Amino acid sequence: MKNHLIIFLTFIVCGYNGYSQDNHNETIIKAEIETAELAEQNAFKNGDCALVLESMEDNITFLANGRRAPSKEIIEKFCKSIPRPFKTPTKSQLHTYPLTPESGYTIKMLEFPIDETTKVEEFVTKIWKKTDGKWKISHLHSTVKEVPITKVTTQKEINDFLKNQPIIDVHIHITKGYADSEDYNALDSDIDLAKIKWMSKRFDDNNIVLALGGGPMKYAKLWQEKDKRHWSGPRFPCNPLREQDEPCDSELPDILELEQLFKNGTFKSLGETSFHSMGIHPADERFDPYWALAEKYQIPIGFHADRGPFKRNMKETPNWNEDYANPLLLLPILEKYPKLKIYLMHYPGSYFKECLEIMKKYDQIYCEITAVSMFAPKDIWEPRVKKLFDEGLGNRLMFGSDYVGTIRKNIEIIYNLDWLTDTQKRAIYYDNASRFLELSESETERHYNLIESKK
Ligand SMILES: [Zn+2]
Repeated sequence: MKNHLIIFLTFIVCGYNGYSQDNHNETIIKAEIETAELAEQNAFKNGDCALVLESMEDNITFLANGRRAPSKEIIEKFCKSIPRPFKTPTKSQLHTYPLTPESGYTIKMLEFPIDETTKVEEFVTKIWKKTDGKWKISHLHSTVKEVPITKVTTQKEINDFLKNQPIIDVHIHITKGYADSEDYNALDSDIDLAKIKWMSKRFDDNNIVLALGGGPMKYAKLWQEKDKRHWSGPRFPCNPLREQDEPCDSELPDILELEQLFKNGTFKSLGETSFHSMGIHPADERFDPYWALAEKYQIPIGFHADRGPFKRNMKETPNWNEDYANPLLLLPILEKYPKLKIYLMHYPGSYFKECLEIMKKYDQIYCEITAVSMFAPKDIWEPRVKKLFDEGLGNRLMFGSDYVGTIRKNIEIIYNLDWLTDTQKRAIYYDNASRFLELSESETERHYNLIESKK
C-alpha cells in the first residue's frame, strides 16, 4: 500500500514539475485559449450564433445563474434572441489559467451600470479543452447579479463635512507613555507627557472637543490636568497584571478619595470596566459603594459589552470570562441604582441583542460604536447598527475610537454608513453624547466655537 502511494505521489510531483518548468509552453497555451475566447466572444457579440456553437463541445454543461441549459439548441435560441448591440461594460477583466497542454480555464468578470445606484456584475467561468487541435468550451457557468454601487468617499468630502463639526470621543484609554512608541517618544523628554501631547494633537486634528477615558488613577489625574478635554476616571477595576493599567496599586480606588475627585470635578467618568477580562461578576457586592457614588454624581460609566478582544495577552488575563461582558448582568445593579448613567461599549458586537434589550428598559442607557466596527466584517456589524435605528434607539449611539491613533479611521467608519442621514451622522459624532452627558448650552456653544476658531 505504502509503495503504491509513493509511486502515485512521484507521478504527481514529476508530472507537475515536468509541466511547470516549461513556462514557454504555458505562455503559448494561454495565448491559444485567449485567442479562442476572443473569437467566441466576438461571434456572440455579432450574433454569429453558428460560430458560437461551434466553439462549444457537443456535450457542454452550460449553466446560467445555476440553471442548466438542457441542450445546445436552447443555447442557440438564447444566443439568437438576446438583444443587441450589447452595452459597453464599465469593467472587463479576463483571467486565463492553463492547466495542461490540452486544458485550461478562463474567468471573466464584467460590470454594467443600470442606474446611479445599481450595477450588474457578471462572472463567466469556462473550461477549455483542446481536441483535434481545436480549443472548445466543455463547461460554461455564468452568474449575473445586481449589486448596489458603493460610493467611494473622498477625503475632501469627509473634511468638508467635518468643517464645523465638533466630535465627542467616548472611548479612549489613559495609560503611561511607552518609551518605544515612535509616534510620540520624541515629543517630550518625559515619556508620559509626550503621550499626552501626542493625544492632544490627535484631538486638535480630529475636532475632538471632549473625550471620556479611564486609566490608572495617577494618569487619569495627570491627563485631565494637562488637557481639559479629558473627562477622566479610573479603569474599573484596574488589573495589577495588565501593563496598560500600571501603576495599579489596588484594584479599586479609595472610595473617599474618589468621592472627592468626583465632587470637585477632577474626575468625570468611570471605566472602561474590566469585569470580563478579570473574571469578576459585575454584580459583585464589592462594587456597590462605587455604583452608589456614580449614581449620586451622575458619572458616566463605560461598560465593556462584547466578548472580545479575541487577541489578548493570556498572562495579563488568566481569569478571562466573556460571560461577564453581558450587559444583562447589569439588571440587578440597575434595580438597586436605577439612575446609573451607563453606556455600553462596542455596540454592534456579540452582545448586541442584550444591549438592545437593556436599552429599551432604561432610557438613560446609551451605547457607542468601537472596535467591532473596525475589526469585524462590515456585513456582520452593519445590520446590527441598522437594527439599533430600526428599534428607535439610534439617537443613543455615540462615537468612540478605543484604539490609540484610530480616531480618523473611526470617523470614516461612521461617515461611510451611507444609509444614515447627515443629521444622524452629526448626532453620532456629537449630539447624542452631548445629550447623554447633559452638556449645558454654553458648553456646546463653546465646543462649536472651538472648531470654528480652528479655521
Ligand atoms: Zn472594550
